[in-house]
Amino acid sequence: MGRPAMMVIGLDCAAPRLVFERYRDAMPNLSALMQHGTWGSLRSSEPPITVPAWTCMVSGRDAGELGLYGFRNRVVGETGLRLANGDDVRVKRVWDWLGEHGHRVAPLFVPLTSPPTAVRGQMVSGCMWPGGDAPWCFPRALEAEIADRFGPYRADVEDFRADDLDRIYRDIVRMTEQHFDIAEHVWRKEQPDFMMMVEIGVDRFHHAFWRHIDPEHPRHESGNPWEHVGSEYYRLLDTRIGRLCDMGDDNTAVLVVSDHGAHAMHGGFCINEWLIREGYLVLREQPSQPAPLDHASIDWKRTTAWAEGGYYARVFLNVAGREPNGRVEPSEVRAVRDKLRGAIEHAQDDEGDRVPVSVRIPEEYYVQARGFPPDLMVYFDDLKLRAIGSIGSGRIRVTENDTGPDSCNHDWNGIFIMSGGGTAARGYVEGAEIYDVTPTILGAFGVPRPPGILGRDWSR
Ligand SMILES: [Zn+2]
Repeated sequence: MGRPAMMVIGLDCAAPRLVFERYRDAMPNLSALMQHGTWGSLRSSEPPITVPAWTCMVSGRDAGELGLYGFRNRVVGETGLRLANGDDVRVKRVWDWLGEHGHRVAPLFVPLTSPPTAVRGQMVSGCMWPGGDAPWCFPRALEAEIADRFGPYRADVEDFRADDLDRIYRDIVRMTEQHFDIAEHVWRKEQPDFMMMVEIGVDRFHHAFWRHIDPEHPRHESGNPWEHVGSEYYRLLDTRIGRLCDMGDDNTAVLVVSDHGAHAMHGGFCINEWLIREGYLVLREQPSQPAPLDHASIDWKRTTAWAEGGYYARVFLNVAGREPNGRVEPSEVRAVRDKLRGAIEHAQDDEGDRVPVSVRIPEEYYVQARGFPPDLMVYFDDLKLRAIGSIGSGRIRVTENDTGPDSCNHDWNGIFIMSGGGTAARGYVEGAEIYDVTPTILGAFGVPRPPGILGRDWSR
C-alpha cells in the first residue's frame, strides 16, 4: 500500500430514504460505493442542525462541549442571540490532527470555517461566509485562483425560503457545480492526502422543494411541475461524486456523509403562545398580528420563561443575576425547571389533543454544557413539528413555518457510506453515529485517537 488518502463528501441534509431507496437508481456511483463498502444511517447530533452537527462530526465533541446549540447562541448579559462563526470553535478538528501528523489537508465549504483558519494545506470557507471583503480561503492567494477559474464564489443560495422556485433551483445547481469544480481543481493541483467538501445545496434543495418531491407530504400535489427535480438533482450529485472519485487511486478511501436527515414538516408548535397561555411568559401588550417575540414588549418582572424557536425549542428561565431582569431565584431554578418540564410534557394543542414532546436538560445530557445552554431543549412530535417562536397567531398549533415557505424539517438520521482505500467492507450496518466520523478518518490514516473524543472507528 502507498500513502493513504481520503475524500469525504458531505451532503448536507441527505436523508437515508432518498439516497438508499427513492433515488438509488439515479445514483449508480453511490450505489457502487455501497455495494463495495460499509453503509447505513448516521445518527445526528443533538440538536440535529447544520450548526452544530458538522462541527460535532469533525471534532468528535457533542454540542454541549462545543457550547453551540444552534446557528445562533446566547451571550452573557443579553436575552438576544448572536450568529455563530468559526471563531466560536475552540477545539481541534480532524484536519488539525491530520496536519500535525504530516498529512496535507483540504477542508472545503465546511460550516463554521469562516473565517478560514491556517491548516497544513488549503481551506475554503463554508455557507456562513459573510461575503464582501471577508476572507474565504487559506491561503488567501487561493481566492483569486478560484475566482479567476470559476467566477465569484457561491458560498450559499440567497433567500431559499421563497416562492421563485425556478430561480432557487438554478442557483442551487450553479452553486453545486461550482463547488465540485473547485474540489476537482484542489484535488488535482494540490494533491491533498485528505480532502473534505460539504455541499449545502442539498439542504437548500430540500427546504425549497420537499413538498413537491415527497408524495407523503400532507400538501403534496401529484403531477406538479417540480416532481422530477428530485431525481434530477440527486443524479447531478451522483455524477459529480463519480467524477471526483475517479480522480482517486486504489489507496483513496471515499466517505459520503450527511449531518442530519430530513422529512416532511407537518406544521409547528407555538411554544411562546403556549408559555403565555400557561402564565410563564407575560406581555405588556398583545400583538395585533403574528410577529417575532419582541423582547421590548415582554413584562420581564412577571415573566418566568421564554423560548427561541427553530427545529426545536430552547426554553430559557428568567433567572435573577443571569438575565438582565431576572425574577427566578437561582436556588429555585431546579424546581421551576422541573415543574415547567412536566407541564410541557403534557402540552395539548388547540383541540385538546396531546402533542408528543421530548425534553432534554443540557447539563444531564451532554458531556459538558459550555457557553450559554438553554434550560430545557424541547422537540415536538419527533421533529415533525417545528418550534414556532413568534407570537400573535392566537393558536398553539399552526400548519406553516413562521420564517418563510418551508415544507422540510430535519430528521435524526443522516447517511454514512465508506468504501475503498483498504477500509473495511461490512455492507449494511446499524448504529453509526455522527461522532464516529472523526475516529474513523483518523483510523484510516493510522493517526492515534486524541483523548476525550467520542465515537468509534469503523475504518478497520
Ligand atoms: Zn445541515
